[in-house]
Amino acid sequence: MDAARDRTTLEIVEADDLKLLDHVDTYGYECHGHDCGVEAFPRAYRPENLVRAHFQVRSAHGRDCDVAAEEAIIARGSKASVQQELETSPGLSPARLHLIDTRHIVSPQLPPSELGTQASGRHTSTGTKGQRPAGRRPANSIRPICRAFLRFPFDRHLSLHVDGIDTTTYQTVFKLLRSKGIESFSRQRVFYSELAWKVAEETSEHLTIALNAGEWVDGKLMPYSVVVDWTAWSKTARSRLKNELEAARKENMAAAKSNAKTRSYLFFIGPQDAQMLSRFHVNDPRLICTVHDQLVFPAA
Ligand SMILES: [Zn+2]
Repeated sequence: MDAARDRTTLEIVEADDLKLLDHVDTYGYECHGHDCGVEAFPRAYRPENLVRAHFQVRSAHGRDCDVAAEEAIIARGSKASVQQELETSPGLSPARLHLIDTRHIVSPQLPPSELGTQASGRHTSTGTKGQRPAGRRPANSIRPICRAFLRFPFDRHLSLHVDGIDTTTYQTVFKLLRSKGIESFSRQRVFYSELAWKVAEETSEHLTIALNAGEWVDGKLMPYSVVVDWTAWSKTARSRLKNELEAARKENMAAAKSNAKTRSYLFFIGPQDAQMLSRFHVNDPRLICTVHDQLVFPAA
């Protein structure tokens, strides 16, 4: 399971986000499915873990648990539309990005007219026990949204609202960076591309991540890169990103070498550098993530 409910705060948390906590109560989580609440144990949640964090249950889910049914939906969703299931399932395909903690929010540096209202206050829409959530719940970081983008290629017409982005469907909010020359993007999008095989370069101020996209010059790829300004980040937040990138990079190389169809993709929200168009800037840990999956564009 990717997410579970915190038994104290009733907040639904992503397993990956546990890596940001100083202390994880391994007995503090339960399945957030309808009428379920079976105990969920965090796995691989330490920043140094090089496999993906997740929750594991040791006993059976409740009879009507929708989380238990998610795996089947995900499997079907890679081959055909599962719109009806996504619309009644809270976590599989979030309808918006809602950044809860305002302390670390740094707006993407866009003209003020293009910026929506940034997150304000805590949201109260977390599902409570025994009550069926009304529909697609918001995500607290871009991770669940990016996962849904790759998992459900036949449902990219579903709505998606992200502050600062002026398009409103999965199809149009995401923008693939290609290898047909460096493009100029005047609008903010969730940009994504396959990770490069090169290790990210680290200084005390920045982490520079190369993508497997850009411009071919004399048989050599001049790649797009993402410069993460992590001056204000905690040590934990830094190691989480570094370890995630390293795990994703290795998974990507292994997939390519074994001729698998999956790849590791880097997703981020951040402005393009005005002087150097091959560069993007990110400064919020919630606005950058990797997902390993197959990228499918269904024939129209
Ligand atoms: Zn359950």
